Amino acid sequence: MSDTIFTKIVRREIPADILYQDDLVTAFRDINPRAPTHILIVTNKPIPTAADVESEDEAALGRMFTVARKLSEQHSLERGYRLMVNCKEHAHQEVYHLHMHLFGGRPLGPMLVSVDD
Ligand code: AMP
Repeated sequence: MSDTIFTKIVRREIPADILYQDDLVTAFRDINPRAPTHILIVTNKPIPTAADVESEDEAALGRMFTVARKLSEQHSLERGYRLMVNCKEHAHQEVYHLHMHLFGGRPLGPMLVSVDD
């Protein structure tokens, strides 16, 4: 499979506003923010989608949540935030390298507006 843009960001081959990186995950600001805080937390391993995770990925998947919590504290999101993972075409996944969105900094509204949306 060819590299995605996120794979190149993880390897620091292209620029991004990287906020955190360790052996399992990398976090950087979304280039097109939909909230005052909009950060992407990606697995360093290029897992295409949430439908492709294996039990061997559980450490990286758990790390995504602890890094999200640390970033939420650093960005003063004590009033709450949303974590979101889009999976394949019905979820409008754009980049096929597993990532969690961290949104916050304002009221985010209901999760989905209605069953028809
Ligand atoms: P998704 O629809 O869940 O696949 O989300 C992909 C996200 O990646 C979108 O919110 C884009 O704005 C963001 N994105 C795409 N290219 C870049 C980039 N080079 N640096 C940071 N964020 C990006």
